[in-house]
Amino acid sequence: MSHFHRRQFLQSGVVALANYVIGAPLSNEAQSETRRGIFDAHLHIPSDNGENFQWNLVTRNMPEFVAYLDKCGVRRGVISSSWSNKAQTPEDYRSGNREVAKYVERYKGRFRGSCVITPFRIDEALREIEHCHKEYGFVWLGEFCNYMTGYKYDTPEWAEVMKLATALNLVLQIHTTTSEMRYLAENFPDAVIVFPHLGANRNDIFERIEIVAKHKNTCIELSGSGIERVGILEKAVKEIGADRVLYGSDFTINDPAAVIARVRNAFLTAEDREKILFRNVERLLANAGAKPQRKA
Ligand SMILES: [Zn+2]
Repeated sequence: MSHFHRRQFLQSGVVALANYVIGAPLSNEAQSETRRGIFDAHLHIPSDNGENFQWNLVTRNMPEFVAYLDKCGVRRGVISSSWSNKAQTPEDYRSGNREVAKYVERYKGRFRGSCVITPFRIDEALREIEHCHKEYGFVWLGEFCNYMTGYKYDTPEWAEVMKLATALNLVLQIHTTTSEMRYLAENFPDAVIVFPHLGANRNDIFERIEIVAKHKNTCIELSGSGIERVGILEKAVKEIGADRVLYGSDFTINDPAAVIARVRNAFLTAEDREKILFRNVERLLANAGAKPQRKA
């Protein structure tokens, strides 16, 4: 082997090894094909520090996370950090959000980043939301999970988060009980809110669908309990309309393919299925952030 060939061989070996270790970004071809691929609105990445929402770890790091999404047929998604959700200090959520930005960059074309904060030190939280939007181009916030670190949504601090999100035109994804859901939908009619989870039982599910149907600024997202009940997705689409029902899985906690199977088998039109699986989240992302300048 000539010196030149040996060098080339070594180089390609290094690239292959790097792709193996960090996971391959999508090729240009795959990216264009991906434009019609399934878009998961609710993904929690495993953190480099070992933080992970999965109850029994089988996808421990980003390459394994991405490989599992591939297996399920999920080509794109909104990612947030579990480290940020469990943050004890602003430093924790900042680190989680930086990690999200890093992986959005690394897996070009696959993921959109989401910023998560906790409202305990509200000035720092608001600064972080602006930073993620301006520096990393994030237009999505959440999933916020108040039960994880014990904060409430009906506080002046949380109102500040809602106000800033509305001013910057960012999507908010908020985990709520039905009463929290009603409170947020009624008090922040100008905010774009995605409520994950159909609900835990019959009454819960019916009530959550009713709230979203009534508040046009809100969407329901299909991860977690409820989707496995046959007929519920059809009810959500009938009452809310297919434009405000989004596919999301809550992976790494829940299986992405389980939700996709129900959407595919549902008694819906092909057009409605496309809206749910990727068009609605694409629209939310495209309409979020700075409005394009119109020429005079
Ligand atoms: Zn979640």
